[in-house]
Amino acid sequence: MITSKTQLVGLLGHPVSHSQSPLMHNAAFAELGLDFAYAAFDVEPERLGEAVAGIRALGIKGVNVTIPHKVAIMPMLDEIDPLAQRIGAVNTVVNRNGRLIGYNTDGTGYVRSLVEETGIDLREHVVTMMGAGGAARAVAFTLAEQGVREIRIINRSRERAALLAEHVGTIVPTAVIDPADGKAAIADATLLINTTSIGMHPQVDEMPVQADWLHPGLIVSDLIYNPLETCLLKEARACGARVHSGVGMFVNQGALAFELWTGQTAPAGTMRDIVLQQLTKTSS
Ligand code: NAP
Repeated sequence: MITSKTQLVGLLGHPVSHSQSPLMHNAAFAELGLDFAYAAFDVEPERLGEAVAGIRALGIKGVNVTIPHKVAIMPMLDEIDPLAQRIGAVNTVVNRNGRLIGYNTDGTGYVRSLVEETGIDLREHVVTMMGAGGAARAVAFTLAEQGVREIRIINRSRERAALLAEHVGTIVPTAVIDPADGKAAIADATLLINTTSIGMHPQVDEMPVQADWLHPGLIVSDLIYNPLETCLLKEARACGARVHSGVGMFVNQGALAFELWTGQTAPAGTMRDIVLQQLTKTSS
């Protein structure tokens, strides 16, 4: 029950009606008996400043930030965590006694889920990454900081890939690969990550690479979680590769935000179950 003591957190995005975050976080608060409530706010880009002033005025404890506000919100905050600064985007804001601090939990959430679900030692892996957008930046920086052997970036617009490679290349060897040379860049890679939106609902039959570029020596990881198993993951499984879906990243980025707001360990199992239940329902 919401009372005058309830602490409010939420999501700023546009649109937000499809978001699983309110369901996931409210289930987690209920599980731990925390007096918190999570709401989704549809904020048009030109009203983001007003929304941030609203967080301060209303004493909202924190928010998640999603498309299209992850970069635009940065100058409106009082402090940016160093990892979020390096990534160049914020997906979580914490209100600490009136000071708004921006974090990015996407990359750490991704890596936590990848390692938990596959048990791999990242330092042994050569990564080929499809895409160079916001999620790619978070994933590439975090993988680089975890010490992967090499990162190859393939993206439709080369300039975006080159900019990301320039930054990540200061941490680990990083190359920009032309999409036409994708087959060779995957042939001797051990981890293939799709960070593009290719294959996401409703374009569920599309793939970011050709099926015959996949091989059994790969772990194939897709950031997309709707559908739960993308066409890329189906083809990867069929050729004998190991697969990793985007659900774990979604749950873990949420769990890390939960921990920043509440100071408590998030019930990640409950969060995962409720998201899987909802996604299975909506995709059937
Ligand atoms: P974004 O910043 O808009 O980046 C989109 C990326 O996809 C860019 O690299 C873009 O290439 C590429 N792309 C899009 N359409 C393409 C097409 N038709 N052909 C070739 N490339 C195409 O978006 P984002 O925030 O990084 O999100 C990317 C994906 O990650 C989405 O599917 C999103 O749902 C998923 N995601 C998942 C989680 C999670 O928790 N599991 C979290 C964040 C994001 P260009 O640079 O050439 O435009």
